[in-house]
Amino acid sequence: ATPTALLVGTGRGAQLGILIKGPEVLESTRRVDTVVLDKTGTVTEGRMSLVSVTGDEDALRFAGAVEAASEHPIAAAVVAGARERVGDLPEVTGFANVEGLGVRGTVEGHEVVVGRAALVDVDLPGPLVAAREAAEESGRTAIVVAWDGVARAVLVVADTVKPTSREAVAQLRGLGLHPVLLTGDNARAARAVAAQVGIDDVIAEVLPADKLDVVKRLQDEGKVVAMVGDGVNDAAALAQADLGLAMGTGTDVAIEASDLTLVRGDLRAVGDAIRLSRRTLGTIK
Ligand code: ADP
Ligand code: MG
Repeated sequence: ATPTALLVGTGRGAQLGILIKGPEVLESTRRVDTVVLDKTGTVTEGRMSLVSVTGDEDALRFAGAVEAASEHPIAAAVVAGARERVGDLPEVTGFANVEGLGVRGTVEGHEVVVGRAALVDVDLPGPLVAAREAAEESGRTAIVVAWDGVARAVLVVADTVKPTSREAVAQLRGLGLHPVLLTGDNARAARAVAAQVGIDDVIAEVLPADKLDVVKRLQDEGKVVAMVGDGVNDAAALAQADLGLAMGTGTDVAIEASDLTLVRGDLRAVGDAIRLSRRTLGTIK
């Protein structure tokens, strides 16, 4: 394509709410055959709320106290839910964030752990297992609260799928692209969300540091990979992908690591960007 055509393409992108880092990006956009979509904040709104608490009644107060020191969307949901239901939260000391797994800290003399079962690393009693499974079957995220080495409660947080995500996935398929859902969340919840938007290929329970390796592995298989994400934990994968697309509603780190920014955070812009690149480079299929 001529420099003029590329400039026109870039300008047209801006009108569609797609910010393109440089004209050369259109060429990699055109070659993409696989689109890896982060779940939370990309396919879903990423605004979570607390739905239920099963177990010890102190769990919400303790979990809220620890999560108050975290910036994760799950933490925001737990803190808001805890303040609403129990009021003021106690102090936390010795707070630690375990990336992609959860948080821990000391509250009122108890060693409190909040997060994935893998972090908590204690057996769950039957009623908590049942609460967790029921939540995950419906695409929600279950968080375990433990203290002093005993699992005490399961908190359930829910996010909603963006109203445009299903249509966006159908558009990608229409363009001949293979969609993949990638998340640190548990496999059952991930599959439920994937089913809601029409994705069959799900890679779940991936630690933030390993999202990059998932992209590399697909590239090693010969795929030309676009990665769409919003979070700090997506940045390395966005940079590794042949094409990185950040949600404009996401973190600055994700935007900086990407080639394209979808200003409105609407996934349909992924298909728009690919159509635009094919048209600009004269290869409409
Ligand atoms: P995603 O890939 O969907 O953006 P993350 O990698 O940030 O998710 O987190 C993966 C999982 O780790 C969450 O689904 C949750 O179970 C657990 N987790 C992470 N941070 C927290 C936290 N602050 N509180 C509770 N659980 C957490
Ligand atoms: Mg995310």
